[in-house]
Parts: sequence; C-alpha cells; structure tokens
Amino acid sequence: MEQQDCLFCKIVAGEIPSTKVYEDDVCIAFNDIAPQAPTHILVIPRDHVRSMNETDEKHKETLGHLLLTAAELARKAGFAEKGYRVVINTNEEGGQTVFHLHVHLLGGRQFIFPPG
Ligand code: 5GP
Ligand code: ZN
Repeated sequence: MEQQDCLFCKIVAGEIPSTKVYEDDVCIAFNDIAPQAPTHILVIPRDHVRSMNETDEKHKETLGHLLLTAAELARKAGFAEKGYRVVINTNEEGGQTVFHLHVHLLGGRQFIFPPG
C-alpha cells in the first residue's frame, strides 16, 4: 500500500524518477542518489513499511526477499567474492532519513567496522 508523502512510495509509483537496476513483484532496486561507494543500491519493498520497527512475522518473506535480492545484485555487480556491505538504518539514532524500509547494498571499496 502506498503511503502519501513517502518519497520511496513515489519512486515505486514512478512519480519520482530513479535509476532502477532490478524489480519484481515484491521489491524494486535503484541507485542511491548520493552514493557512498562505487556501487550503492537501495532495495526496497513495493509496499510501504516505515522501518524495521514496524516488521513482524508477516514481513518474514519480504525481509528475506530483500536480502536475497541484495545478495544476487552483489553477485551481478561482480564484488560478491571480494566482499560488500548490507545496511538497514533504523530510526533517527540508527541514521534513517527516509522512513520507507530499505536495504543499502554498498560495494566496490574497502569498508571499516564499526561504521560511524
Ligand atoms: P537512510 O539514511 O534512510 O538509511 O537512507 C536513505 C537513502 O536514500 C540515502 O542514502 C539517500 O542518499 C537516499 N535518497 C534520498 N532521496 C533520494 C532520492 O530522491 N532518490 C534516490 N535514488 N535516493 C535517495
Ligand atoms: Zn513508502
């Protein structure tokens, strides 16, 4: 279900343009507008979910699907073996700025841990 005034719902609906790299019935994936790595893709569910805090048993398949999609996109991008990072920021202190659940897939450079 689309949520009014949600940026990523608008991207799902095609009302705001994005560079899509993958889509299926459950999710879409597109390039982040401010990439933090040579490859920085956002994988998001088509249906609006505000954050990890709003997930429960009924989101099991969707959450699994988002992660499997990120893994597949990492393989396609060619950096799966070298390594990459998958991030889900949650709420303000977790660094979330867009409140439609999304998986960041970052690859193509060395990452350090812990992140800032
Ligand atoms: P968060 O900080 O919520 O984890 O991640 C939100 C991400 O969305 C940020 O990395 C930001 O660069 C990206 N972003 C914000 N607005 C847009 C937009 O209009 N288009 C795209 N493609 N990415 C966006
Ligand atoms: Zn939304």
